[in-house]
Amino acid sequence: MENGQLDERTTDIAQGIQILVIDDEEIMRNMLRDVLSDAGYQVVTAANGLEAIEKFKERDFNIVITDIRMPGIDGVEVTRKFKSLDSNICVIAITGYASIDSAIAILKEGAYDYINKPFNIDEIKIVVGRAAERQKLLKEAKEKEKYRQLSIFDGLTEVYNRRYFDEIAPKEVARAKRYKKFLTLFMVDIDHFKNFNDTHGHQAGDWALKRIAQLLLGNIRSIDYIFRYGGEEFAIILPETNKINSLTVARRLRLAVSLAKFLDKKAMPNAHITISIGVANYPDDAEDINGLIAKADECLYHAKELGRDRICFLSVDDARKDTR
Ligand code: GH3
Ligand code: MG
Ligand code: MG
Repeated sequence: MENGQLDERTTDIAQGIQILVIDDEEIMRNMLRDVLSDAGYQVVTAANGLEAIEKFKERDFNIVITDIRMPGIDGVEVTRKFKSLDSNICVIAITGYASIDSAIAILKEGAYDYINKPFNIDEIKIVVGRAAERQKLLKEAKEKEKYRQLSIFDGLTEVYNRRYFDEIAPKEVARAKRYKKFLTLFMVDIDHFKNFNDTHGHQAGDWALKRIAQLLLGNIRSIDYIFRYGGEEFAIILPETNKINSLTVARRLRLAVSLAKFLDKKAMPNAHITISIGVANYPDDAEDINGLIAKADECLYHAKELGRDRICFLSVDDARKDTR
């Protein structure tokens, strides 16, 4: 019964794990293949390093079990090669008792563990099972990170998305409040972008949108955030920045876009694009994120009214001021 349970667990770990076994001795290869296949792994064998490299390129393996001493490309070289192709690959070396030095050499190349010859079947299962578990955890962590990235970044412009703004912006304002720091919010909108789309096509519009996002990103500090807030609108959060200092940044952003040449390989004649920016500051203009958004939007609207390609902010007496 105990054994039955152990086997069930091994099969569970083995599920979906692909192993490449490399050994120049056919008996060894087949023995490993049979033991591991019985345990539920998917196993492919190769008789030498070259064959193994070919097979490795064709398929996604999770674990490689390689003999160290082989004619031609030996196990140490195989490990080096596989590690350079996939740094996460888990390599298990097979050593004879006499070749502990080469076991050390292969561990130095990044191998995960080694098994001694002659084989002990239980030992093989334990070492491979541990490697399989590690590979599964690694894969899960990578997938989680991928989903996290997908959920906070905008696919087109590669800056943060609106969902992430809603999550992080209130937290940043709360932090500013708690540590008694300034924080500035910019609402940035591309001028006459509908015209740009109408003239150059939607695809060129998408390309320009991404280019502008990256230009803005390149002109803020690493502690600042940029989000795609709506279609052709961006929100920028500048923590620990008062209004006067934020205007310098706003001017830099406005100039970066207005001076850029939007030249595409395709039929896009030297197009020019400008942006308008509405500014709101914590604590000068509002006490919470909704208040800041409302004030920045109001300023942005005013900047559009005044003729675009400009920055609008509230002065001390709450009067709207604009600057270029
Ligand atoms: P304004 O200066 O007043 O902001 O003029 P505008 O034309 O930029 O403003 P409006 O809000 O009327 O139009 C926004 C345009 O932005 C309309 C839409 O076609 C374009 N746009 C929004 N999102 C995207 C996008 O993802 N890709 C492209 N290519 N265009 C977009
Ligand atoms: Mg616009
Ligand atoms: Mg707009």
